[in-house]
Amino acid sequence: MNVRTRYAPSPTGFTHVGGARTALFSYLFARKHGGQFILRIEDTDQEREVEGAVGHLLEALRWLGITWDEGPDNGGPHDPYYQSARLPLYKKYADQLIAAGFAYPDPYTEEEVQAFRSKAEEEKRLFLYRDHRPETIDEWDGKRPLRFRIPEVKRYTWTDLVRGELSAGEEALDDFILIKTDGYPTYNFAHIVDDIEMGITHVVRGEEFISSTPKFLALYEALDIAPPAFATMPVILGPDGNKKLSKRDGAKDILDYRAEGYLPEAMRNFLALIGWNPGTEQELFTDEELIAAFDFDRVQKGGGAFDEQKLLFINREWMRKLSDDEYVTRGELSAPDMNRLKAALPLLRERASTFSEARAMLTEELACLFTTPTLALDLLIAKGPAESTKTHLSHLQASIEELSEGATIASIKETLMPYADSIPKEEGGRGAALWPLRYALSGEEKSPDPFTLIHILGNAEASSRVRNALAIL
Ligand code: GLU
Repeated sequence: MNVRTRYAPSPTGFTHVGGARTALFSYLFARKHGGQFILRIEDTDQEREVEGAVGHLLEALRWLGITWDEGPDNGGPHDPYYQSARLPLYKKYADQLIAAGFAYPDPYTEEEVQAFRSKAEEEKRLFLYRDHRPETIDEWDGKRPLRFRIPEVKRYTWTDLVRGELSAGEEALDDFILIKTDGYPTYNFAHIVDDIEMGITHVVRGEEFISSTPKFLALYEALDIAPPAFATMPVILGPDGNKKLSKRDGAKDILDYRAEGYLPEAMRNFLALIGWNPGTEQELFTDEELIAAFDFDRVQKGGGAFDEQKLLFINREWMRKLSDDEYVTRGELSAPDMNRLKAALPLLRERASTFSEARAMLTEELACLFTTPTLALDLLIAKGPAESTKTHLSHLQASIEELSEGATIASIKETLMPYADSIPKEEGGRGAALWPLRYALSGEEKSPDPFTLIHILGNAEASSRVRNALAIL
């Protein structure tokens, strides 16, 4: 079988974690089987459409590297991939259903429907359109909604690739609208026509569609076409694994993660692990590894938690895999002195979990690397009197000048530490030397340790900063 999957978003807002995860699983499955992944824009609800949403969602998928074989901008054999541009097709299927006696124009006014509804309520039964099918069927002029006539009211049972056998009874079946009075098809109708026309073999989507599946199956039956396979994704839960994901927990725009300095490969890796696991301890996956390992049988039925700590961990790991040049360019890092920035990369790699954290480090705690510090005398002598501080710094400066160019942090420490350690406890111990040294180098009460600072600044700059401190003393 040539596998064909699709992601079929409605442009009613931004792409959030749930949508992106559905798209990813659909994509992975198609890639795994050498099939095609199709992107289709379900824009038949004109009222709910949000301006700019299509462009935004294409950008989100592109950023994530979820590439589609057919769809907007790429075209393909079923072009156009926007439902709003496919109206004649739905009309063709509607006419076919009318001819076969499976569709009828809804003859009732709103008042009449309201009366049916009230009566059903009074009699404590479910209001169903199928209880009110008209005896004579008018010609459909488009001014009335076209309703589907469910061929047979019965219990439907089907097999979901993730959830196994599912079934729903007669209460789920009603004569739903196929085409609205604005000429647009409903989601229920359009997506089935398109899945048929586009040869979709596997439908991957959220669990909110399970309850409607009997309706979909009834429509396939009326059209005499075998339905595709269904794979229902688990909901995404908040970090505590209980309630549904809230905005604060991460139900936000996927493109916000780009702005916050996450790597798309990390985001993809993280999304894949929400509700799916490879059955091993492996947590870091390249795209190729995901494609090879992915299958619906390891997608869980119950909700998968959105674990932000895991996202940070995965992102940090992917950031660490980058070469120095990639780290700087992909992180959009800049500093007045790029060599010094490069020298500071190990610090960033160790501490930053996102590029926005890395950027913030450069302008906050590491800003001192790029500007000559302005020193305050009282802080310089915070750990000992001016005279002895001066003696310590002079000694240390002499040692700094003797360091070889590019000395490692460890060897700088080895060179300077014996002097600091030689200071008796009563005279403040090593802190009496290391504090003013670190402060002289950074001008900050908090900063990386002095050995790291010397390494990053280089011997000449470090020595000149210590000289400034000596001048003040
Ligand atoms: N347009 C539907 C949505 O955005 C797609 C559901 C489906 O995949 O069939 O929820």
